Amino acid sequence: VITLAIESSCDETSVSVLKNGRFVLSNIIASQIEQHQKFGGVVPEVASRKHIENINLVIEEALQEAKITFDDVTHVAATYGPGLVGALLVGLSAAKAIAFAREIPLNGVNHIEGHIYANFIEHKELEPPFICLIVSGGHTHLVYMKDYGAYEILGKTRDDAAGEAFDKVARALGLGYPGGPLIDKLAKAGNKEAIPFPKAYLEEGSYDFSFSGLKSAVLNYLNGQKMKGNPIPVEDVAASFQQAVIEVLVEKTIACTVEKGMKQVVLAGGVAANSGLRELLQQKTKEKGIDLKYPSLKLCTDNAAMIGCVGYYNYIGGHRSSLALNGIPNLKIGEIHS
Ligand code: ATP
Ligand code: MG
Ligand code: FE
Repeated sequence: VITLAIESSCDETSVSVLKNGRFVLSNIIASQIEQHQKFGGVVPEVASRKHIENINLVIEEALQEAKITFDDVTHVAATYGPGLVGALLVGLSAAKAIAFAREIPLNGVNHIEGHIYANFIEHKELEPPFICLIVSGGHTHLVYMKDYGAYEILGKTRDDAAGEAFDKVARALGLGYPGGPLIDKLAKAGNKEAIPFPKAYLEEGSYDFSFSGLKSAVLNYLNGQKMKGNPIPVEDVAASFQQAVIEVLVEKTIACTVEKGMKQVVLAGGVAANSGLRELLQQKTKEKGIDLKYPSLKLCTDNAAMIGCVGYYNYIGGHRSSLALNGIPNLKIGEIHS
């Protein structure tokens, strides 16, 4: 199976060609970060227009790099949710047009499942079941993945997503967008115990998360420093904030893995690129004899290869999407529309 996969849920226009789901022949990512930076975040209308400008060029480049033509493509996959509806529709419409013109099957893909499946591309031997911590710009989920396409959600954020908290704190520090990588870098030079920011563990036994209290605590701290005329110790704020996020993520991930008697943990989503999170989770899983997998940096953030991988497994599992498939901005994990 040669899959052509398209991702356009947010601010990356990406197209990938894959062989049998896990072997990437090309994975082109056109980022719009520069266009959105002056607004301090993604502007939906700008994103849709940029996707329209880019999509055909990116498809062309993905085919070229894979050294194939449309004649060789046997299957099409595209993200149809969750995400910005105008952005989703650009990639989905392109995929439908290809499926229709070439008379080949189409599979709509859930973007969040895509983040999990990035691990199947990175680690060819990886198979479910496992516990997956998904930490991205819009989502924070602890999921028990029982089999391909079979998920049980054990916990999720009640307010901000982990990546969103990184981006908002970075903005308050005047660092720019996206904030995650910038905070990660500054945190390395800071003292993670310098400022005692709150860690939200919620009720005993809950695998849910909450990051809005932490975000407010950071904002209050910054305002307090300004009122007193004190300088802001940016590195220490970054390190202490990051530590408050990752300690809770890691502790809950380990607790639910032990409770479920699982021996394998998988990390996914943009925040999976965070070096502090990777290190702490590596250390704690090792202590418990649990195996940890995470994708390389390029596969952590949005890309079409991960979307093609989900599309392939949906396809061999017998699913097909119709050409009437619509973009679904709040698509839930494990939900399949045809
Ligand atoms: P979603 O996948 O939930 O729809 P998204 O696609 O916008 O949201 P991703 O591309 O998965 O999000 O990830 C982007 C997020 O990851 C941003 O919030 C960004 O700040 C964060 N991020 C990227 N690198 C790092 C890092 N090194 N440390 C912390 N956060 C990071
Ligand atoms: Mg993005
Ligand atoms: Fe994403």
